[in-house]
Amino acid sequence: MRGVVGNAQAQAVLERALATEQMRHAYLLHGPEGVGKRTLALAFAQAALCLRRRPGESEACGECASCHKLLHGNHPDLAIIEPEDDKRWLSVKLLREMQHLASLAPTESAHRIFIIPDVDNDLQEATANTLLKTLEEPPEGVIILLLAVEPDALLPTILSRCQLIGLRPLTTEEISQALRERWSVAPDAAEQLAGLANGRLGWAIRAHEHPDEQAQREQLLERLIALVAAPTDERMRSAATLGADNGAARATLDQWISWWRDVMLAANGAHALRSTDAARREAERVGAAIGPERAHAFLDALLAALASLDINANPRLTLENLALALPRVRQVGARR
Ligand SMILES: [Zn+2]
Repeated sequence: MRGVVGNAQAQAVLERALATEQMRHAYLLHGPEGVGKRTLALAFAQAALCLRRRPGESEACGECASCHKLLHGNHPDLAIIEPEDDKRWLSVKLLREMQHLASLAPTESAHRIFIIPDVDNDLQEATANTLLKTLEEPPEGVIILLLAVEPDALLPTILSRCQLIGLRPLTTEEISQALRERWSVAPDAAEQLAGLANGRLGWAIRAHEHPDEQAQREQLLERLIALVAAPTDERMRSAATLGADNGAARATLDQWISWWRDVMLAANGAHALRSTDAARREAERVGAAIGPERAHAFLDALLAALASLDINANPRLTLENLALALPRVRQVGARR
């Protein structure tokens, strides 16, 4: 599908629906942040609304008036439902407007499409029930695409109205190739970004467009790697800054988990690591030094720490505990 990278199975489900004109009233695209849920939803919407798409085809033409409007974000039959600027949640008012809009005939094509990009985050009970009403009695031609990281956070009654389509993290090679071919990133830089992206093309593109974010991520990774060899006092100092607030602690854990997965894989003798260059060599060295059991135990501790932040654990304390539990491996040539 136009502009979509990876997740061939998910693409195929939607392509079949388009080619046979057997679109469901509601889909739930779920998968981690940055794997392309929004891109896939928009590609599907473009194809569904395209005025030149012939029977049996699943691709948008990219050139008709409808395709142009969609690409410019002003197609009257496509609505992206997000919280208003100053709001944390979708308002009931917004969901009622959506319900009303859904009851009207499409203006330019056979469908009216709604995309709710963060449905697992943006709904409260009242809004969930309003959405449910639209899902229960979908007017002719309406297609609703819900996007979620955690589908389990949604009401079962909402889930049961949708066809679920799962998206997985992309492989390092898929990301690297897409960066080279579609974003004209130089091969070395593409390889490096792909290694850091943790399966998320969205992140890699942002990092390419905003190098500061990537530099920060690289620095953080270097710090976390250095921590393995650091003495206790240094670990505690680092934990205090890395866990200064909930956001910092989450960013730290996100990256720590990603690298430590490689440590665990390396400890088990696997070679398909996501890290590249120095991070990869360190993951292999640390993994070999501590063995599978300790590598696994610390990964569990990292995952438990992330879960505890969700229930408002103290971020600094959480990271201090991890800094103490982190297996120690001396640096090559260092005598401590
Ligand atoms: Zn078109």
